[in-house]
Amino acid sequence: MSDSYDVVVIGAGPGGYVAAIRAAQLGFKTLCVEKWLNDEGKTSLGGTCLNVGCIPSKALLDSSHKYHEARDDYALHGITHNDIAIDVKAMVARKDAIVSQLTGGIAGLFKANGVELAEGSAKVLAGKKVEITAHDGSVKVVDATSIIIASGSSPVNIPPAPLFEDIVLDSTGALKIDETPKRLGVIGGGVIGLEMASIWNRLGTEVVVIEAMDDFLAMMDGQVAKEARKLLKKQGLDIRTGALVTGTEVDADKREVTVTYKDAKGVQTEVFDKLIVAVGRRPHTENLLAADAGVKLDERGFIFVNDFCETEMPGIYAIGDVVRGPMLAHKSSEEGIVAVERIAGKKAQMNYDCIPSVIYTHPEIAAVGKTEEQLKAAGDAYKVGVFPFAASGRAMAANETAGFVKILADEETDRVLGAHIIGPSAADLIQQVVIAMEFGSSAEDLGMIVFGHPTLSEAVHEAALAVDGHAIHIA
Ligand code: FAD
Repeated sequence: MSDSYDVVVIGAGPGGYVAAIRAAQLGFKTLCVEKWLNDEGKTSLGGTCLNVGCIPSKALLDSSHKYHEARDDYALHGITHNDIAIDVKAMVARKDAIVSQLTGGIAGLFKANGVELAEGSAKVLAGKKVEITAHDGSVKVVDATSIIIASGSSPVNIPPAPLFEDIVLDSTGALKIDETPKRLGVIGGGVIGLEMASIWNRLGTEVVVIEAMDDFLAMMDGQVAKEARKLLKKQGLDIRTGALVTGTEVDADKREVTVTYKDAKGVQTEVFDKLIVAVGRRPHTENLLAADAGVKLDERGFIFVNDFCETEMPGIYAIGDVVRGPMLAHKSSEEGIVAVERIAGKKAQMNYDCIPSVIYTHPEIAAVGKTEEQLKAAGDAYKVGVFPFAASGRAMAANETAGFVKILADEETDRVLGAHIIGPSAADLIQQVVIAMEFGSSAEDLGMIVFGHPTLSEAVHEAALAVDGHAIHIA
């Protein structure tokens, strides 16, 4: 390790590793510091996303979906089979193999791009110095011209439900469950809670989701949230809203946990053999900043940054889950690019109105821009176009007719303000509207584009046409 670098990046999650690679591509002498150790005690790059987040959860979601389809849907296509079974340990091993392949891949990208890696914990000191404590306890201080903090977030624990061995788990522990629980409780009906609930529901577990808020998926468009609740209920998920967990009691001998919660009807109890606590994540700032480093936190504990991710200390940037905004991998990565390009004197900026978000249930739920409720609350005049997948030939061919595409456009200018999709491949379809919105597209523009046939994308086209009542395939 040298004594000084142009750019020191703290954290090698999707924010930090992308920033480090771009910094090296732009010719900066770049060091990335990462403290993550995997279960074998080896440094693992990729942060939450690759190790215990986006990728492992999607690996399990995809495996469980395939099992579910084979069990429940193949017969419809004329495919029959005997003795369909799931080997959960093999499913988890596949997930682990994908994680190690991808995390190892980042190490390869660092080498190829000339990013230097320091294994250990970093702390920002005054005068843009970074103290690095290696896992063996040795300490080295390096000078940085610029620093990018990408230290991410960790799961929130709540006092009524402390983690306990393999019975009460956070999202990280939940990814290690290697046999199908009989009865699973999930505290939190948000993105992570619903993804975890879906994995096990598909494998035959009885799943109860306990959500404190009265509204289900309150952050999503109301029409989409209503449809999601209906479809998930049909799949067997027992979703209880307005249910505030007040306590848990683990019986270690029986390997079960009793959860007490309060809802409109009073105090309720439920017994589960596993309980997942998925109530949110908090920014990771412990032992990260010396008091005189000049970097301030906001009132919610996130590192305070301006629109270009620069902290109050010039030359020190912070990106991703540790700063305001949605906790999403692609938001972290893009902020990493913005920060590095700003350091390089470019005018990069981020469009926070065009960040897609997805819940990988089946069907997927995806959104970008404003919801109908937000437009109403702001008093903005808008038009709505909705197209159901039930009217899509491609969706019918795939037996994926649940859900719809909804597009919101400005009443006067016709500019697309938001899109909300629940349905097959919603995660990929939403990206079409994201691109359109980035180019300032009107609903009419989207309606005039030629979409291939037969594709699920045609539902986006038809929803755009529906904004002015011109959809072709709705009676
Ligand atoms: P992180 O990925 O948290 O990385 C931060 C890194 O910094 C870590 O490796 C940490 O070890 C390191 N670090 C922290 N402090 C220090 C220090 N002092 N010194 C050195 N290193 C340090 N997002 C999506 O967009 N799509 C999804 O499908 C999705 N699914 C998810 C599923 C689950 C179960 C979870 C938990 C999260 C999911 N997310 C998803 C969220 C996504 O993982 C995060 O938004 C993303 O990882 C944030 O990236 P980041 O780089 O800001 O932080």
